[in-house]
Amino acid sequence: MLFGRLNGEQHALLELVALPVCVVCARADEAGRRSLQGVLRDGVNDVGVRDDWRSRGGLCGRHWRVWRHLESPPLSSAILLEDLLGTYLDSDRLGAVRCPACDVSERAEARAITALRRLPNAPLERALADGPGLLCLRHLDALPEGHVRSRFRTRLEELLEHLREQVRTSDHRFAAERRGPHADAWLRALRVFGGDV
Ligand SMILES: [Zn+2]
Ligand SMILES: [Zn+2]
Repeated sequence: MLFGRLNGEQHALLELVALPVCVVCARADEAGRRSLQGVLRDGVNDVGVRDDWRSRGGLCGRHWRVWRHLESPPLSSAILLEDLLGTYLDSDRLGAVRCPACDVSERAEARAITALRRLPNAPLERALADGPGLLCLRHLDALPEGHVRSRFRTRLEELLEHLREQVRTSDHRFAAERRGPHADAWLRALRVFGGDV
């Protein structure tokens, strides 16, 4: 979809409105995942990357889960984890984890919020008319009062209607009406509260 005079981050956010996700969470997650893919692709033999991971104590639990599900060659994992486990056993501690993927993800989150704040009304309206994208409560609250925040808040009112429809049509008498835009309301609502779930 073409949205006219927008920057790259704004384009990416509006493209994500086509999916039933928090668009800011999705940008942040993608950046974190890409940073891990980059380490896997060419970083594990880079002494600087291994020093950095060692001094940071590796990844947070969430990003270890992401790592595990990447196209992750066992050898790369073994090289990095040998380093970390050896460091732990040498000193009996690694210290508090300062996850490098979380840092990347937080920077991407800040860029996305800035881009959203400056998003013109018309392209946002067009994207929201075509797609179910939303903002989780944490990211809605990160926006100042204004048309973008107000439009995503309206989206939550639409979602509440969809939840009511989903509950109503669960009765067997309304089985024929179960399909429709409300069918995945529960999942979108989970993401409103849970972000990246
Ligand atoms: Zn979010
Ligand atoms: Zn992390």
